[in-house]
Amino acid sequence: MAASVILVGAGPGDPGLLTEKGKAALQNAEVVVFDRLVSPAILSLIPAKTERIDVGKQASHHLVPQEEINRILLKKALEGKRVVRLKGGDPFLFGRGGEELELLEENGVSFEVVPGVTSALSVPAYAGIPVTHRDFCSSLHIITGHAKADAVLKIDFDALRRTGSTLVFLMGVSTLPEICSGLLRAGMDEEMPAAVVESGTLPSQRKIISTLAELPQAAQDAKIKSPAIIVVGKVCALSERFDWFDNLPLKGKRVIVTRPAERNGTLCRELRALGADVLEYPCIRTVVRDPAVELDMAIASISDFRWLVFTSPLGPVLFFRRLRAAGKDARALAGIKLATIGPKTAEALENFGLIADLVPAVYDSAHLAEAMAQVEGPVLLCRASQGSDALPQIFEKRGVPFTDAPCYDTVYESPDPEAALAWLKAPVLVSFTSVSTVRGFVSSLPGADLSNVMGCCIGRQTALEAEKYGIRVAVSKEATIGSLIECIKEV
Ligand code: SAH
Repeated sequence: MAASVILVGAGPGDPGLLTEKGKAALQNAEVVVFDRLVSPAILSLIPAKTERIDVGKQASHHLVPQEEINRILLKKALEGKRVVRLKGGDPFLFGRGGEELELLEENGVSFEVVPGVTSALSVPAYAGIPVTHRDFCSSLHIITGHAKADAVLKIDFDALRRTGSTLVFLMGVSTLPEICSGLLRAGMDEEMPAAVVESGTLPSQRKIISTLAELPQAAQDAKIKSPAIIVVGKVCALSERFDWFDNLPLKGKRVIVTRPAERNGTLCRELRALGADVLEYPCIRTVVRDPAVELDMAIASISDFRWLVFTSPLGPVLFFRRLRAAGKDARALAGIKLATIGPKTAEALENFGLIADLVPAVYDSAHLAEAMAQVEGPVLLCRASQGSDALPQIFEKRGVPFTDAPCYDTVYESPDPEAALAWLKAPVLVSFTSVSTVRGFVSSLPGADLSNVMGCCIGRQTALEAEKYGIRVAVSKEATIGSLIECIKEV
């Protein structure tokens, strides 16, 4: 995509519904101009160095006027920046996408459009409502329920009723009573199934299924707020039978994920796909050592070692980087045995054409240390500077010579303590995938009340560390993300 401005539809909120093309555009942008309806999970995909302009912010209750947005887009594009204009749902469906392109076109600025998954179709789908069904209707109408200030709704209710179609109203929360009474006056059946769905596709989604006559009262009783979609038509009656979203296994659960940002993708994605509300809260970061003094010295006399030990998938990558920097390759490891803490690290080693000789049955440092109790040294530990004491202790006890060669440091971060504190006010699960994630989490929230926290941990050591801070814990059966997710399902 080479255009100066890319108009991107962000979808209705669930980050899984952002298109691949949209995601690529976001990751490549220098400036992102976004709206109120774009969800935080999608905004978190924007690289840190990218300039963000929030035009959905209500400055003294006034949104940034449309002309001003158009001018911002033009100005940034003329500065030569790669601009993404990110809009909720699909940019051309009640999204003023067309208006924003006019000024660009007039000024000869190149642009592209990446359509988005519109809320008009996806929100009903997440509420178990297929917008068409051969038994009930043969067309679908998407209507704005928005009325200009102090003006009456200009909707031809008679025409809509005659179509016998499914009606989807956007921007209709405040005019819901008028919409329903308009349709009733036009002769639509009082018992016609009707629904309103708030914050569709998000973990906070709420839906009300009712009848045309009773929907306004039901929505008022439930204090339904914008953004919400109104659906009128027989297909709404299918909602209970097809209610897949509210029945997802982690629906209603809230999980704070503490893994480093570059490694939390799979976990966050899978938890969300299972219905959980996820706060990405990476509280550790990896800083690679270059040079890695101890490791470089060990590599200089690598043939002296009998065992080489890796405790994370990053270990092999950094080891081979240093080895290469020393002008050597994998042949320098001939005759040296290889141990890894678990299968993921063994896989990382296989990328270099090497098969681990030892992987403990339980993937943690304590079991790795036990499994290595009888080996002959010298042993080279290639790992984080803050590695567990289990290995050094056992080698010292057994008189096995070893060198601890840190190749990276784990530093603690406080991404957004306020968001985390807000989440801690009610029962919440926190995933801990290592001892350092526990330490990073606790140190980012000094003095916080952790009584609502249930720590879901990989590894006994991790759980013990969490317990030191009074956190209740559950430990996954295996040291894998799949097993951690099972553990989260069970607590
Ligand atoms: N271009 C957008 C619509 C913009 S108009 C799209 O294609 O989805 C804004 C209206 O969209 C809101 O008032 C609401 O009616 C609807 N909407 C957007 N996101 C929504 C969501 N997650 N849940 C319910 N309604 C939503």
